Formats: sequence, C-alpha cells, structure tokens
Amino acid sequence: MSINQKIKPASTTINANGNLEIGGCDLVELANEYSTPLYIMDEATLRGVAREYKKAFSRLENVNMMFASKALMVSAVAKILSQEGFGFDVVSSGELYTIKNANVDMENVTFNGNNKTCDELNMALDMGVGRISVDNFLELALLNEIAKSKNKIQKILLRITPGIECHTHEYIQTGHLDSKFGFDLTQIDEAVELILDEYKNLELTGLHAHIGSQIFETQVFFDEIGVILKEIKRIKDKFGIELYEINAGGGLGVTYTDEDCPPSVEKIAQVFAESIEKHCKEYNLKQPVLYIEPGRSIVATAGVTLYTIGSSKQVPNGRKYIAVDGGMADNPRPSMYGAKYFAQIANKKEDEKPQTVTVAGRFCESGDILIKDIELNDPQEGDILCVYNTGAYGYSMSSNYNRVLKPAMVLVNSSQSDIIVKRETLEQLIQNDVIPDRI
Ligand SMILES: *Cc1c(COP(=O)(O)O)cnc(C)c1O
Repeated sequence: MSINQKIKPASTTINANGNLEIGGCDLVELANEYSTPLYIMDEATLRGVAREYKKAFSRLENVNMMFASKALMVSAVAKILSQEGFGFDVVSSGELYTIKNANVDMENVTFNGNNKTCDELNMALDMGVGRISVDNFLELALLNEIAKSKNKIQKILLRITPGIECHTHEYIQTGHLDSKFGFDLTQIDEAVELILDEYKNLELTGLHAHIGSQIFETQVFFDEIGVILKEIKRIKDKFGIELYEINAGGGLGVTYTDEDCPPSVEKIAQVFAESIEKHCKEYNLKQPVLYIEPGRSIVATAGVTLYTIGSSKQVPNGRKYIAVDGGMADNPRPSMYGAKYFAQIANKKEDEKPQTVTVAGRFCESGDILIKDIELNDPQEGDILCVYNTGAYGYSMSSNYNRVLKPAMVLVNSSQSDIIVKRETLEQLIQNDVIPDRI
C-alpha cells in the first residue's frame, strides 16, 4: 500500500502506557510538553512519501518533482523535501521567501498563480526562479517588461485549462473549461504568437495544467497528458517549435476516512508514463520532460493534530457534542467544504466504551464542527484527541479567527521531537496593530 492510501502514519502504535505513539513519541507526553492544539509531522512518513514518488516516477527518464507549497509551507518541511530531491511550486512572495530561507535551489522552482503581482514577479526574477507558469495575457506583457528591465530571458510555461472534469468538490476543481485559471485552449495560439513575435525576453519551454485536487480516478490524468501533448503537436505544426516540457500539476487523493480510495503513487506514475508514451508515438513527438506538483499526497498522511477535549453537550434526544480547544481556525477544511476526518483518543483507556459523538471546534460559528458522528472511546474532559491526516491544507489555511493563537508544529522521528513552528504569542498577535495618535 502506498502511504497516500493509509489513514495514519506508519509508525502509529499503542505503547506500554496505553497511549497512542507516532515516530516513537507518546502523543500524550507531546501534548503535555508542547500544549494543544498541536500539529505533528512524522518525518519518516514525509520522507517515505517523497521516496515513493521518486521510485515510482523513475520509470520515466526525465521527470522533475515539485512539491506544491500551498499544501504546507514551513521552512523545515521545505528543507526535508529539498533533501529528498523535490523542487517547489510556489504561488506567492511568502512561499518564495520561505523556500529561499530554507536554501532551496531556486532553479528548481515554478511560480504559479492567476494574479501574481508586479512585486512578486520582480522578486521571482531577482531570486532566479527556474520557471514561471504564465496564466494570462496581462501577465505575459508584464513579465516580458520586467524581464527586459533586468536584461533577462525568463523561461516560462503557459498554464492552460485542459477542459477535463473530475469528480471532486467544486471548489477544488480547476481544469474544467469554466475556470479562473489559465489560458483557454482557444487562446493558446495567440499567446504563442505574442511570445514568438513580441515578447523577446520570454522563452516558452512548455505547457502546464492542473485538473483538481483529491482525485481518485486515473483516467483523468491519462486524458490530461493527452490534451497537453495534442496542443504541443498543434503548436509544432503551426509555429514550427516543439515545446519540450509538460507540467501536469498535482491532485492525487489521500485517505481521510475508509470511504476514500485513491490510487497508489505507483499506479499514477504508470498512468503518466503510458499516456506520454502513447501520445508521443501518436503525435510523433520527442518524450518531453515531465514536471509533477503533488501537494496534498506528500504531506497529508504525515500530519496529525492533537486537541484537548473540554466541554460537552448532550442535546436532549439528539447528538452528543464534545468540544476541543481548536477547530476551524487551525483546520478550516470541514467547515469550508465538508471534509471528513478520522480521529482517536490518544490516552486510550483500558476498557473500551465506544460512544458516537460529534467533535465541535471552539470558534464562534455553528459550522465549526471538525467531525460529525464519529465513534470514540469514552471521550471525557481532559482527554487528548488525535485527528489524522491533517498535514495538508490545515496549517497552510489556518487563521487567527476569534483572535486565537496559531498552534505550534512539532517534527517527530526516532523518539525525538523538535519544534518546527513555534506557538504564536499574544505579543505577536498585536505586533502589527497601530493605534493612531489622533484617537
Ligand atoms: C493546488 C495545486 C497543486 C497541488 O494539488 P494537490 O491536490 O495538493 O496535489 C499543484 N499544482 C497546482 C497548479 C495547484 O494549483
């Protein structure tokens, strides 16, 4: 089984104290030492996924793996993935700054986004970012001007909308035709023409697409590669240039609960390889360099979040709610798009007393429910709840809603735990507040 097909980090076990343990660290002790809510990243799982990708995609001759930073961008994770041979897909100056700070080779970075600012493009060029995935006509003109002013030729890809529908939540679908991202297939020729004729400081190397997230199908990836290569063939026939890079984006799903059944990393690699082979033969193209940008499937399973259970409420003839000390500010996915999670009590008691409860967050929104109707072992005030698979799009989407401090993040491995993100402080909360003299 591939790591993205598992709910828990591989090292998850119940130790001699009867507590849950990950990476050799007792979760109850971690909660005591670092307090809750607490994000935990299991280093072995993180490196394990990275190596699975590397091995699976080694069947292709020319492949670059770029981690989609938006899933989780903190310096230590950037360093680990860089050590494992990953480049980075970034979408903001903040992500650029973070990976630069982690000493990542900027040549191995792609800058994405549908409305990059002038400042961000300037920063990307100054840092020597390898590729910029240009999303629209305005950006083409802007980037050419910036590159010209710096006397640079910038390598670019064109982000295209391949028109592929996949069965995932509407908010995380991106590749269908009515999308805010990228050039419509009918606009590609005009863009290529502009680059070849006018934008002399841009060098077009390939096409980029991303069809969505939390994808369980494989055919859509096969089709996506087909669409990209078909466009490359068309461009070759019409303009006489053979683009040699294709970036297929990310999107491989993970297993949040046993209802989810994503394909393995190995299977996805096989589908990409088969599609490239088939379509290159069909269109008489050289094998291009493949870039992939997995985000969720790299970091989701390695992450868990610990909470302390507080108050509870039994609705007469209704649900039992138990409240934890975090919720939608540290993990907005359940309230934003009904995402489901699996959880267990970390301080497992001797006798099993399963009870179906709904785990509520602490934030002032009725929608702040982390998990609806889950069976937990006799949840009581003071118990530590471990929610699995929170490594992706949790911390990266977190907020200070209700002026609540962002949790710390701890990296565990071989019975050792290290802080990789410090818990926010009250001083930091107000450090950017200004009270004008006149009031
Ligand atoms: C979000 C995104 C990714 C990563 O998607 P995952 O589902 O997290 O793997 C990759 N590329 C682009 C362009 C994206 O927008």
